[in-house]
Order: sequence, then C-alpha cells, then structure tokens
Amino acid sequence: MIEPLYRADDNRYENGMQYTRAGRSGILLPRVSLGMWHNFGEVDPLQRSKEIIHYAFDHGVTSFDLANNYGPGYGTAEETFGYVFNKSLRPYRDELFIASKAGYDMWPGPYGNWGSRKYLFASLDQSLRRMGLEYVDVFYSHRYDLETPLEETLQALVDIVRRGKALYAGISRWPLEATRFALQYLSERDVPCLLFQDRYNILDRHVIESGVLETIAEGGCGFVSFSPLAQGLLTNKYLNGIPENSRAARGGHLKAEQITPELIATIRSLNTLALERGETLAQMALSWVLADKRVTSVIVGASSVAQLADSLKSVEAPGFSDDELELIEKYCNL
Ligand code: NDP
Repeated sequence: MIEPLYRADDNRYENGMQYTRAGRSGILLPRVSLGMWHNFGEVDPLQRSKEIIHYAFDHGVTSFDLANNYGPGYGTAEETFGYVFNKSLRPYRDELFIASKAGYDMWPGPYGNWGSRKYLFASLDQSLRRMGLEYVDVFYSHRYDLETPLEETLQALVDIVRRGKALYAGISRWPLEATRFALQYLSERDVPCLLFQDRYNILDRHVIESGVLETIAEGGCGFVSFSPLAQGLLTNKYLNGIPENSRAARGGHLKAEQITPELIATIRSLNTLALERGETLAQMALSWVLADKRVTSVIVGASSVAQLADSLKSVEAPGFSDDELELIEKYCNL
C-alpha cells in the first residue's frame, strides 16, 4: 500500500499551544514537549509512533525530546524519530526543536558511557546518523559524572555547539554545586546553558528542595520538567490499581510495589479535585507544574494519541486558587 503523504495541519499554531522563552535565551518552546523515552522503540508499533508524532506537530508541539539510549533497544527511539522525520517532517525542519543526550550506558567498552569528550562526540554523531539530521537543536549531558572533570564534559558541549552539531547546550540531573559551575563555565565561553532537565511533578519536588530550580532560574537557564505525570501515576490510569498494558505492569522504571494503597488514595483525592476543576488529573498535574514561572516546558510521554490529546489541553487549564493549592499540599501530605 502506498502511504499517503503527510501534510502538517495549516492551523498548527492556532490549535491552542502556547510558547515560553527558555530562560534568558531567544528560544521559544511549547509549554508541552513530547518525550520519547518509552513508546517509540523498536518494540512499539511504528504506525502508532508516527501518529503520535504527527498529532503533536499538528497541535503546535515543536519540541521533541530524545536521547541516545531511548528505546528499547538503545538507539531505536532515535531511529523511529528519524524514520518519521525523513518520511514526513523533513520539510518542516526549521519548525522543529529536537533534543538529544548522552550520559548513560550506550555501547560496550570504556567509551560508551558517562561524560568523557570522546563519548559525547561519538554519541552525538551516532544520534545524528540515526535521525538523519545535520544538527540537533540542543544536546544535553544526560547525567553528572563524578569521575570525569566537569571541564572536560562542559568543554565538549561548548565545542559541539561551536562545530554546529548542536545549536545549544543543556545539562540534565546535575547536582546543585556542579550545576552552578556548569552555568558559569558555559556562560564564560559564550555558550550559555539553554536548558536544564530534571524530574518535577506534584509528587516529586526535589528540585525545589535542593535549590537547583532557583539556581537555574537565576542563571537565566530554562527548566524542562520530565515525568511531569510521574510516569502515568498522575493520570486516571492507576485509580483502581495497575491496569494491564501500563508502564507499571510492564515493569522497568515504574515499579508495581511503588503503587501503594496510600499513593492510590492520594491520586484519587487529586483526581476528585481535578474533576471539580472540570479537567482530567493529567491536565491538572501538568498545569500545576506549568504554573511555576521558572518552568519553560513539561516533557510528556504518551502511549496513544488520546493520551497526548488529553495532556495538551493542560495549556488551556484555569489557574489555581489558594484553596486548591492547599488541598493539593494536603493530599500529598506536605
Ligand atoms: P510522563 O510522566 O508524562 O509519563 C508518561 C506516561 O504516562 C505514558 O507513557 C503513559 O503511560 C502515561 N500517560 C501519559 N499521558 C496520559 C494521559 N493523558 N492519561 C493516562 N495516562 C497517560 O513522562 P515520562 O516519564 O514518559 O517522561 C517524559 C519524557 O521526559 C521522556 O520521554 C523523556 O523524553 C524525558 N525524560 C528525561 C529524563 C532525563 O534523565 N533527562 C528521564 C526521564 C524522562 P503508559 O505507557 O503506561 O500508557
């Protein structure tokens, strides 16, 4: 069968998406970005992956978050994205903001992990080949490496940008002191850190407690929150236990034993509040993160177009009253 040609929705920028500047940069990012950690690997149906990516772009999601190791298997999310990009999105390259990262285990031997210059350069070249891109928009150090000098990792990011392999540099999940150092190092070399990624959601606020979010904001760097739905916990998915065909049932990073009766009680209370506000729990959870002015974008995952459609509506969600914010704290025992 000949596949119909994709043509992006002419109204993609009038479909409700809003854009915010990343820190003190010139880059506007959509409030909701699409992440490909799960659901876009070689084990997932290509047709579904394609539909989710197209739906995202048709609704103003210009920002796509990848990493070398996303799949499973490693590299296959970038291959999937590359397939879709080359089939349908290539004419829109200048409307896309594509991220990749390196920092976790990727290939065997001493040069396929952590933060060395050799690993970061080789990995980015591999990512570009998999996706069929000439450059990525932002390239992140995916994690802090205690054993590699920070200067080596950061200088690699600077040189990657200077060589045009990435337009901007970012870091992900770095601890506070190393983050301070990174912001200064990069800015002194005229490659200011564009984005910092970490987990931030109603149930996990460690970036506030550690002071990293404040530091990022003061440093003029944008913040993108990953797992803003706590991997699906902050949706209507687990209200009655663990459904088949969920991330928790599949095992992996979200463990069934994490989903305790107390947690389900919290989620149910939050869900009731969301319904009273006239929205789904996913929408409330995302708009709660987005209400923090330091947050540039939330990166959501989705295993269906319907999930993404639900999440995208968060952009239009009403603000929170003080009473609602207090209730959220109470339900989370904070
Ligand atoms: P989320 O918290 O958005 O969880 C996504 C999962 O939640 C989906 O796979 C789906 O689960 C479920 N879900 C999503 N929307 C809905 C909905 N509306 N209703 C019901 N269920 C829903 O984010 P992720 O944990 O996937 O992380 C998002 C992205 O952040 C990643 O893809 C990646 O790009 C980035 N990331 C970065 C990291 C880093 O170290 N820098 C680490 C982790 C993530 P199900 O599949 O069960 O249907």
